Amino acid sequence: MIIDGKKAAADLRSDLKQKVIKLKAKYNAVPGLTVILVGEDAPSKIYVKNKEKSAIEVGLNSEVIRYPADIEQKVLLDKIKELNSNNKVSGILVQLPLPKHIDKKKVIETIDHGKDVDGFHPINVGNLSSGYESSIPCTPLGCSLLLKKVEKNLNGKHAVVIGRSNLNGKPMTQLLLKENCTVTITHSKTKDLKTECLRADIIIAAVGIPKLVKGDWVKKGAIVIDVGINKTNTGLVGDVDFDEVSKVARAVTPVPGGVGPMTIACLLNNTVECFKKAQSN
Ligand code: NAD
Repeated sequence: MIIDGKKAAADLRSDLKQKVIKLKAKYNAVPGLTVILVGEDAPSKIYVKNKEKSAIEVGLNSEVIRYPADIEQKVLLDKIKELNSNNKVSGILVQLPLPKHIDKKKVIETIDHGKDVDGFHPINVGNLSSGYESSIPCTPLGCSLLLKKVEKNLNGKHAVVIGRSNLNGKPMTQLLLKENCTVTITHSKTKDLKTECLRADIIIAAVGIPKLVKGDWVKKGAIVIDVGINKTNTGLVGDVDFDEVSKVARAVTPVPGGVGPMTIACLLNNTVECFKKAQSN
């Protein structure tokens, strides 16, 4: 089975569109997403454009604030504080990476954790790891929703997460633990990755190495979620050798068309959730 992330994302956006209509009728207001883009990083510009387009499509108030790469940190932090106190703004996202002179940690900590649609604020990270309600980073949330399309009950499954980034591997691990999986986290210093992978019922690959996970690394019937997006001479490929792995896995996500589309849909979902929480406070 090939897990269709495009369709899953379109379904989620369509659900969100209906939710936004209902919220508008109830509160006479719609959720608002503000994205801040600093500098001219080409992939970031594309991501921000796609986020803006999708936000408008589901009926959110969408705003993009653009700053030059040499912006003073104080200007950026002051803008975030202003957005924090603007009740028309439900979610704030500062597109990463940021220029070197800007302290990423300080920026993330300045965002009101109730508007942290990326789920990167330490309060949200702490809540997620404690099993409390929190904003969940968009890509791992998307992976979780795709996994659930294949297997509703993950109780007792052995999941191997490849990669331990704050963006992907670590929050993914927390989500799998919440689903009662037994989780092995692997990374660049892991001794025998193939053997670890062969024990897995579920593999989540979030590494950034083209086609790292081979067909003979995967147990027959395993579910494989490929987070990787790698540019190669032959186009975009994931961290999983799709042609090989699709022959042994029970289900696998393609690249492109797998996790990628879910990431933006989950950002919109998080914005709607932040709006709902703000209304109920
Ligand atoms: P990162 O560079 O922050 O982390 C990579 C992780 O992989 C590290 O923890 C590292 O220890 C581990 N690693 C490196 N080499 C390894 C090896 N040989 N064996 C095992 N582990 C190894 O990357 P990231 O931000 O987590 O992104 C990972 C991939 O996911 C990238 O390709 C990125 O483009 C992609 N990505 C996709 C989406 C999406 O929406 N689909 C979103 C974010 C990132």
